Amino acid sequence: MSHNLQVPPPFYCVYLLRSVSKPNSYYIGSTPNPYRRLRQHNGELSVGGAYRTKKTGFRPWQMTMVVYGFPSKIAALQFEHAWQHFYQTRHIPLEKRLGSKSSSTVHLRIANVKLLLAAAGFVRMGLRVAIFQKHIYDIWVTNKYNVAVPESVLLTLDFQQNQDKLIEGGNYDQIKVFVETLAAEEDKVFEKSVEKLENNDLRQCSICNQVVDPVDHAPCFCVNDSCQALYHAECWANDMLKDSESPADSTSPMIPIKGRCVECTKLNWWWPTVKNSMRVYQHSNQAIK
Ligand SMILES: [Zn+2]
Ligand SMILES: [Zn+2]
Repeated sequence: MSHNLQVPPPFYCVYLLRSVSKPNSYYIGSTPNPYRRLRQHNGELSVGGAYRTKKTGFRPWQMTMVVYGFPSKIAALQFEHAWQHFYQTRHIPLEKRLGSKSSSTVHLRIANVKLLLAAAGFVRMGLRVAIFQKHIYDIWVTNKYNVAVPESVLLTLDFQQNQDKLIEGGNYDQIKVFVETLAAEEDKVFEKSVEKLENNDLRQCSICNQVVDPVDHAPCFCVNDSCQALYHAECWANDMLKDSESPADSTSPMIPIKGRCVECTKLNWWWPTVKNSMRVYQHSNQAIK
């Protein structure tokens, strides 16, 4: 029985823009390329600017936070739509809804993104949040509406280049570095995984001890550089689901959020693992042709 793996997109995020000239104005969007998208919003690229951000007096916009790690583009689009329409989304149960169509302060926007991160439809995706502006982080921490963020949501803060006065236009460098750093981390895990596969003649699954043939299966690797553990996707998924931090639920009973490597106990996240696994699988199959 082989695990039917769904391939996550390379990168897709939902973002919150804030107007530099009208700092109480915000805009929610989604993109596979936040650097290019921000330039479009600010009119620095001639095509593709979103209509609402073209209005006079609002540019330049800065990207203040992103939600990422979506297992599919569709999931990102659903999250974007739900965040934009928080007052009516089916993802937030009626009794938990905050604010209305006419009241969308930044406190409400942040409260609603937290409600969505905790929503049944999204909580199992292992989503991550990066905040680029101190103002937004303060609102996140103040937590005016007292919404709990799931423990599984990884939060990254990056304010280093973000003194508002220093950035006249968009925070391009910050966004660029963020995306490039993520890609570099993924490349490193990928290269290490290929190396581990090449150096491991036995190719035994650390759970069932059977061979993981990289042509038949997409092998999964531990993110720990020095750990040689190798897994069948299904074996590891089942093992991760035994973890109380990542319990199975009825909406996606076969998909864990995260779990520990049985060899080195390092924490591994399911969707990044799958993404890397598919990359190695494609690489191995190309190498054979
Ligand atoms: Zn196995
Ligand atoms: Zn390990």
